[in-house]
Amino acid sequence: MVPLRMADPLARKSIVVFFISMSLVMTLALGVYASNRFLTHWLLVRGLEQTFLPHEKTIDTILTALADERRSPVPQAVSGLRLSARPASEPQLASETLTEIKALFQHKSGISDILDAAVIFPAQTTNTARSETGLQQIPWTRDRSLLSPDTLTRAVATLDLNSLAAVPDMTWDGRFGHNAVIAYRPETGDTAMPDLLLLTRQSGQLSSLSPLILTISAAIGGLCLTSFLFAGILLWMRFHDQVTTNQDIQFLAHHDALTGLPNRAVFNARLTEALRLAQAKASNIGVMLIDVDKFKEVNDTHGHGTGDVFLQIVSERLKAVFDTHLVSRLSGDEFAVLLTSVSDPARMTKLAANMNAATKIPCIIDGKEIKISLSIGIARATDGSWRASRLLHCADLALYRAKHSGRSTFSWYTPELDADAQKRKEVEAGLVKAIRFDQFKLLYQPQYSLRDGRLKGYEALIRWDHPTKGTIKPDIFIPIAEDTGLIEEIGTWVLNNACQEAALWEDKTRRVAVNVSPAQFIAGETQKRVAAALRNSGLDPRRLEIEVTENLLISNTDAVIGTLREIHEMGVSIAMDDFGTGYSSLSYLSLFPFDKIKIDKTFIQNLGKDASTDAIVTSIVGLGRSLDVTITAEGVETEEQAFLLSAAGCDLVQGYMFGKPDSVASHEANFPAFRLNTSGGLWFPQERTRNTPQAPNEDLQRPASSAT
Ligand code: C2E
Ligand code: CA
Ligand code: CA
Repeated sequence: MVPLRMADPLARKSIVVFFISMSLVMTLALGVYASNRFLTHWLLVRGLEQTFLPHEKTIDTILTALADERRSPVPQAVSGLRLSARPASEPQLASETLTEIKALFQHKSGISDILDAAVIFPAQTTNTARSETGLQQIPWTRDRSLLSPDTLTRAVATLDLNSLAAVPDMTWDGRFGHNAVIAYRPETGDTAMPDLLLLTRQSGQLSSLSPLILTISAAIGGLCLTSFLFAGILLWMRFHDQVTTNQDIQFLAHHDALTGLPNRAVFNARLTEALRLAQAKASNIGVMLIDVDKFKEVNDTHGHGTGDVFLQIVSERLKAVFDTHLVSRLSGDEFAVLLTSVSDPARMTKLAANMNAATKIPCIIDGKEIKISLSIGIARATDGSWRASRLLHCADLALYRAKHSGRSTFSWYTPELDADAQKRKEVEAGLVKAIRFDQFKLLYQPQYSLRDGRLKGYEALIRWDHPTKGTIKPDIFIPIAEDTGLIEEIGTWVLNNACQEAALWEDKTRRVAVNVSPAQFIAGETQKRVAAALRNSGLDPRRLEIEVTENLLISNTDAVIGTLREIHEMGVSIAMDDFGTGYSSLSYLSLFPFDKIKIDKTFIQNLGKDASTDAIVTSIVGLGRSLDVTITAEGVETEEQAFLLSAAGCDLVQGYMFGKPDSVASHEANFPAFRLNTSGGLWFPQERTRNTPQAPNEDLQRPASSAT
């Protein structure tokens, strides 16, 4: 698990999103509140105006009367006059007028909420300006329980723009008082007309408005809330998507997408951590590197889709066997297991054996049966000084050994593997140079017929003429060339050179056999190379023989068989080399009609010493006869072996007894034909020169007594 750090952009983003949402909620609440207040205010103003407007004419009359009264001389000039509390000189008028106005509103609209009224006359000096002092004389301007101090001032100020102004008492934060002011200035053109100021109760209006306002506010609030919720949901969905994407990215960064197994980075980290924690008891830590044998062929033959499913099945089997241990996919077909709770090497060996046993059941994909074969390399840390890279390297060396000891098996790391690896590295570097500087040569080993003693052909065997180490045998460098892919170039060189040389041989009946290893067998490509070698050399295809081993057919690929068929159709014969060394040589015989079977030298070497080997060789020869396949015995070193082979009915022999790998010139110069004498000894003819016409039958007809 990799913790989410604060520096993570997503974490920062989520904090920002939180604050934005919070401020949005607050803005929305404020907006709803403000709109509620504005609406209430607006409705209240309209309501108050509506209360007043029907009485405008009557009010005008009252005010005209007041103006007229004012025009007549009064005992003392006052610019502001409160009707209800007039100076003692005018009490009558005031109370009458107030009663009249109250009655007016009450009668017409049923509103009995006029609390008080006042008039303000224009100043004597100017036509329009109303006296400030007049306002000061109205007591409700000073009584805060009736009105906020500026409500009246605002009402009067509005009259300069509008003849009617209804101003509710309202604080800055939207709270409504009990009362409102209705200010009115008649538009009669009479400059002496006073302004009328009515103090009216607004709470009644407010409470009658409240259901409507509440409904509208609820609607606005609901609408806002819905849109906010909607926006919130959208935002949340986006955020959730991002979190999921981020989690996916995190997962993909640490896991393999195909199998879902932890990847190399996780494996390395866990291994390093395990080694760090296990300083004292590092022997508990083991690593297995597991490689799928011939996975490339699965891909090439069945396609990448099947290859993917195949890997998924392999990973399932690994998980089933290794259970609680960390199984990881390192690359294409390479897996690794980290064992931290098993300290006993025997138990690790058992686990590896269990794994190989678990591959015995083939997998079936789209109705096709595909065999699973795994090679396993095991290494164990022996003390606390081991580093992860070293442990992996050791497991890798062990894996290499497993691969080269027949696959579908496991190997433990041993210290000698380091020296082997070093040698391999040197050979690998040397091979690249060998190709560049043309350091290869071909030797030829003769093959004789046991029937007529004639030399039938040669097997071409490669040698590396190393500038300092002398001649190097193919067993040393061919496996490395196969691993590194250099075999392709080397193999093509062998094919071309063998064909070219054979084309120049005097005896045009002699064949040349060329070894083609599975690693250089590329469907679609190998047949082209064979055709090109034949074309360039002019060699009769019937004189070329391709030797393949059963490893080539292990995965029973249609592509391989198709390629073999194409080569066969050119007239080239196909031989199965090293017959009997593999697991199921016999079953491969049914896959392709081989022209020749070469019995491996391990059988020949035990011939005459071991009854079961004799029986095996005899039955292989019998099999060849019934299948009409030529049988060659290789590695024939003794006369006894040759005799037994002849008695069994073997067709051809090849071995040190008949000639070691050498140049064709030297074989031809010392041309031997032979026959078996009755006592089982071999008869060799006199040395012949190259130019002596070959008369093998003649040789065979020589009397047995002349044998040496
Ligand atoms: P192979 O194809 O089984 O070749 C026969 C090997 O047995 C040769 O070893 C040969 O020298 C050896 N041999 C022959 N007669 C006797 C005998 O009487 N006794 C004993 N003990 N050995 C005998 P060589 O030449 O070292 O080749 C080893 C292997 O290298 C070959 O086994 C073949 O698999 C591979 N190889 C050789 N040349 C080529 C090549 O050009 N291309 C490829 N791909 N592989 C090659
Ligand atoms: Ca061979
Ligand atoms: Ca062989």
